Amino acid sequence: MKIARRVTDLRPYLFAEIDRKLEEKRAQGVKVISFGIGDPDVPTPGPVVERLCREARNPANHRYPSYLGLEAFRKAAAEWMGRRFGVDIDPQREVVSLIGSKEGIAHLPLVFVDPGDTVLVPDPGYPVYASSVLFTGGLAYDMPLRAENDFLPDLEGIPAHVARRACLMFLNYPNNPTAAVADLDFYERVVRFAEKYDIIVAHDIAYSEITFDGFVAPSILQVPGAKARCLEFHSLSKTFNMTGWRIGFVAGGAELVNLFGKVKTNIDSGIFNPVQYAGIEALTTQENFVRDMCEVYRRRRDLLLACLRSRGWEAPTPRGTIYVWMAVPQGFDSASFATLLLEEVAVAVAPGSAYGDAGEGYVRFSLSLTDAELEEGIWRLETLRL
Ligand SMILES: *Cc1c(COP(=O)(O)O)cnc(C)c1O
Repeated sequence: MKIARRVTDLRPYLFAEIDRKLEEKRAQGVKVISFGIGDPDVPTPGPVVERLCREARNPANHRYPSYLGLEAFRKAAAEWMGRRFGVDIDPQREVVSLIGSKEGIAHLPLVFVDPGDTVLVPDPGYPVYASSVLFTGGLAYDMPLRAENDFLPDLEGIPAHVARRACLMFLNYPNNPTAAVADLDFYERVVRFAEKYDIIVAHDIAYSEITFDGFVAPSILQVPGAKARCLEFHSLSKTFNMTGWRIGFVAGGAELVNLFGKVKTNIDSGIFNPVQYAGIEALTTQENFVRDMCEVYRRRRDLLLACLRSRGWEAPTPRGTIYVWMAVPQGFDSASFATLLLEEVAVAVAPGSAYGDAGEGYVRFSLSLTDAELEEGIWRLETLRL
């Protein structure tokens, strides 16, 4: 059997060894507390579920949906962008619905990247950026996200000869896995950089609504002129606890969105209409739900941080996302510390090195476990003997 290089070249799955140990523990009957996975534990709001059920009974919704998204969904998404960010989006030409933002992100390089082209990707980062570049034969150039730069890429540190060859840049704030946030001033610098080197910017803003302590995440599209070279990938997954539903949207200038739509039309045939109606329900009626979820995550964040700090472990206070990004104690690396927690107290965390070389020396705690599991996990962390 011949296997394509794009598959054999995929980065080895670094969770594999830890997953094996986790399964081993579970097989022994040990209850593992998992801070490993970012997937909201609280159910999707009731009215959203009700809307799906109602729409699913309508035979008109059983046929192929529109390729680029229900007009009503695109309108709801555009209006939400206006209310939330003050960004003017034309529902006809500047937004396309996605089967989850991961789908859009994974297909985007097909629009802009030829074999041998350079793409700037954050390191550590959501693994889909680098793998989607690899699938097109492009070359991913890592932009390290370091604590001394507040986990923002150092744009001035990118060599000019690399920037000149780059055609695309991925960004993600509020950030997974570092939990860092970005302000409008940073996005302005990104847009100027992209204009200077003729680069398209793909901004993954999946955690836009999960922020704390008064921080409100801006959209890169708020920067004057940004629409011409930025596409922003929005997701309903983390905002409305809809990870299983597979719905999001991409917004940006008409020319970029049109190009993206051309590729997408050749790949899938849209999203089940009832899921899009449910998405409309979420975008138009669930503001209070989002506010309450932020309060849930903030409370969990503070409980976990207090525990980590009582042990003398260092973690900045995140202003967004459902994660805490912690430097591992002296004498460990990401994998050995994650393994220690699993073996000694049956607590699972994600090793930072799984998200890229610059993630080495960190672990990521997710806050998407139940309050009871969180309490148990905290108690276990307090009893760990080092
Ligand atoms: C969870 C997550 C997404 C969301 O993906 P969907 O496909 O919309 O569920 C996108 N980007 C990052 C960085 C994420 O953590």
